[in-house]
Amino acid sequence: MLTGIPPYRPNHLLSFDFDGTLHNPAGVPPVSLDFFALLTELRETHQAAWGINTGRSLEYLLEGLAESHFPSSPDFIIAREREIFFLASDGTWQPDDEWNERCEREIGQLLVESEDLMHEIRHLVKERTGAEWIEQPGEPAGIIARTETEMAWILRQIETRVPPTSALGWQRNSIYLRFGDRAFQKGSSLARVARRLDIPPACIFAIGDSHNDLEMLDHTVAAMIACPGNAVSEISAHINAQGGYLCRESYSEGAIEALRHFFPKPSTESFPS
Ligand SMILES: [Mg+2]
Repeated sequence: MLTGIPPYRPNHLLSFDFDGTLHNPAGVPPVSLDFFALLTELRETHQAAWGINTGRSLEYLLEGLAESHFPSSPDFIIAREREIFFLASDGTWQPDDEWNERCEREIGQLLVESEDLMHEIRHLVKERTGAEWIEQPGEPAGIIARTETEMAWILRQIETRVPPTSALGWQRNSIYLRFGDRAFQKGSSLARVARRLDIPPACIFAIGDSHNDLEMLDHTVAAMIACPGNAVSEISAHINAQGGYLCRESYSEGAIEALRHFFPKPSTESFPS
């Protein structure tokens, strides 16, 4: 039996990265209240469900939503770029067990198969950088660098050692990097949510600001793609090359601008009869 399907049956899906896209740590409030008003409107006009697609764990994201005083919960959450949860009618978060368990199993196997390579990368990080190697439940292999420059150096070392044909992948978000399987990222996870809800890419919107958003900002996943004005240059260039929408505004003001671009207000002009 499939578990974790949301009670609400939408016609459109809206996928938002959290940090740097919706959430501005210097903002007061960190997420514009106008953003939530627009979501309410789009729920009525387009039967749009919305979700957060983040590199954060579920627990850490829920902390972030509480700290940001979100007035309503998302319909779905994709945590650690791959773990899917749907909001149940009783307010609990129901995991998509089939998908989540497959992710964990396949990534675990892949890391075992890549043991020598991972050992080499770990050794390199330890000996040549001040970055921290992360290995803990739910987070089998990750790196936290001290600076973006250090992470860029580490990435170059990884790229020269991992063959392009390897299933081993990684997701980078500023100074953070998480190893995993190339098959499980924000794009494939959003596509999984869409399949569960029977929503085609033409009716899916996605917005993100950083490297780990790349796979969801793809027309095979979402026809409506955008990045906020504060996006990293590689993501802005990608959105531009794909014919997506480059916002002038940053953070949640950018998300509002992009939503208004793809879901314009119905004209209220009346024509003479
Ligand atoms: Mg981000």
